[in-house]
Amino acid sequence: RGGGDAADDDGSGCAVVLELARVLGMSDVQTNRSVRFIFWNNEEFGMDGSGTYALERAPLQGTAAEPKWLGVIQHDMMMFDHGMPPGPKQSRDADIDIEYQKNSRMAADSAKLAATLRAANRTHARDYPATIGTDMAGTDSIRFEDLVASVSVRENERVIEIVRGSNPNHHQPTDKYESYAEEDFRFGFNSAQTTLGALGQLAGITLAQRR
Ligand SMILES: [Zn+2]
Repeated sequence: RGGGDAADDDGSGCAVVLELARVLGMSDVQTNRSVRFIFWNNEEFGMDGSGTYALERAPLQGTAAEPKWLGVIQHDMMMFDHGMPPGPKQSRDADIDIEYQKNSRMAADSAKLAATLRAANRTHARDYPATIGTDMAGTDSIRFEDLVASVSVRENERVIEIVRGSNPNHHQPTDKYESYAEEDFRFGFNSAQTTLGALGQLAGITLAQRR
């Protein structure tokens, strides 16, 4: 159901995750905990890929087939915060929205994960601040919210912004790269800085000595 080239929904989120995978995959990067990069299918029609993963693999945790889950960080639409109603340019108040679900079994742990991401944003992201919301909805991480600390990271809050038209390109033929400007792409880069900074702490990232 992605419109146009699905540049923002969800090419942008995939690009952030791919960039994190590229950086953490460098030969001199070491982590104390494993980080799994996952690209779900069929999010648009009911979060089927993530739902099936959660259902089938949750019971396998701790076996050789599946590590124990410590947290899920979902990236879904990472470019466009032009305010409400949306204007032609990135808003002066544009922020990265980190959401968890307050009405979920793992809400307390998810709030901590969200706070870690916001702290990392303050330290590592140069242009756009992060805001925490408590009504995560309509994205793959909801499939994990009762199982493990789970957050979504997005250009806007799902319920009060995206559903109300914060991005006119959302699911439209205009969701193409030429519809976005430098500030929009930089927003996505700030999201990568935010999550990488958080992972540095959460996964214990160190660099091996170069010889
Ligand atoms: Zn969508």
